[in-house]
Amino acid sequence: MTRVFAVADLTIGDFPGWWLDVRCRCRTVHQPLRMLSQAWPAETCLADYARRLRCRHCGIRPVHVALIDDPRLGAVGFPTSSPQRRLVITAGPI
Ligand SMILES: [Zn+2]
Repeated sequence: MTRVFAVADLTIGDFPGWWLDVRCRCRTVHQPLRMLSQAWPAETCLADYARRLRCRHCGIRPVHVALIDDPRLGAVGFPTSSPQRRLVITAGPI
């Protein structure tokens, strides 16, 4: 069965084992959705959540936010046989 969805409709509760890959101009932060769902209602729209984010270091909004299945995949020095699954939530200044 194929699951069809719109990225704009994704919520924090939709992918409990996944992570948010949040990038600003100075760094990348990975936020586990499992932890976000403890602080935010599960029905919170990920795009709305991403619009509220600001980097704690430089204070700007992220330039890229994506859902990823495992932040270790694709990391330097981490051997992997499967590619990282990634759903872009926002790209470009938000
Ligand atoms: Zn920053």
